[in-house]
Amino acid sequence: MRRNENILERIAKQGIVLGDGGYLIELERRGWVDSGSGRERVGTGKGSGQFTPEVAIEHPDALRELYREFLNSGSQVLQALTFFGTREKLNRAGYGEQTEAINAAAVRIAREVAGSSALVAGSVSRTQLFEREGPTAAGPVRDLITTFRPTLSQCSDGHSPADCARAMVDAGAAVVGVNCEQEPDRILAITREMRKAVSVPIAAQPAAFRTTDATPCFTRLPQFPDAMEAIQLPRSAFESFGEKARSEGIQFLGGCCGCNAAYVRAIARGLSAANNRAA
Ligand SMILES: [Zn+2]
Repeated sequence: MRRNENILERIAKQGIVLGDGGYLIELERRGWVDSGSGRERVGTGKGSGQFTPEVAIEHPDALRELYREFLNSGSQVLQALTFFGTREKLNRAGYGEQTEAINAAAVRIAREVAGSSALVAGSVSRTQLFEREGPTAAGPVRDLITTFRPTLSQCSDGHSPADCARAMVDAGAAVVGVNCEQEPDRILAITREMRKAVSVPIAAQPAAFRTTDATPCFTRLPQFPDAMEAIQLPRSAFESFGEKARSEGIQFLGGCCGCNAAYVRAIARGLSAANNRAA
């Protein structure tokens, strides 16, 4: 791969591009990231624990190893662990002053691992301010990013997946999609609506946790964050997600929270099974 190839060129060439999995949940399981569950109310929708990315400067080898595992399992794009790397979020963990250093280290290590074998993407996280503090936080939130946390039919401020996809494309997005919070089947229900609404490539990176119709967000389930093993989906769900990607019109796919390298490998297996059938 040419080092300066971008994601759109890659999609145009391959049809479907395989991304990576989830970082913070996996590094928390390995003991390198703090969930904050001992200090914060979680599982209530009022916060989702700490899960901040200072691991990039505190334990860089742990982060480097996870990047290597995703690359080795077939990831063609590594996302730098810059999720929750906003000053507002890092302040809550006492790392606000190191915001730039943490983000720079996450990108530098990802690029070192990727070399010329994978692309590196930044990860711009949502903010939790709006959910915690309500409409009065609208100004500060706008300064960070806008929130986008869909259920199956609408996002936090009432727009449908199709509305959101159109708005993002109108604002200049080259690829739109959805990641995290929900398992593949619920994510696919959202991306199908987006697929019908826009013509740009669609991205999907589901979480590997089983959610419910009443609460289709794993971070709002009582198992979050200390009992998620009880709602973990098997990797076979991601193999079948990979198999469906082409027929669902998805051109960038991967996993999010709960997906380690074994899950990325399962997606890759599903993709190649579908390719073999089509050949
Ligand atoms: Zn996630």
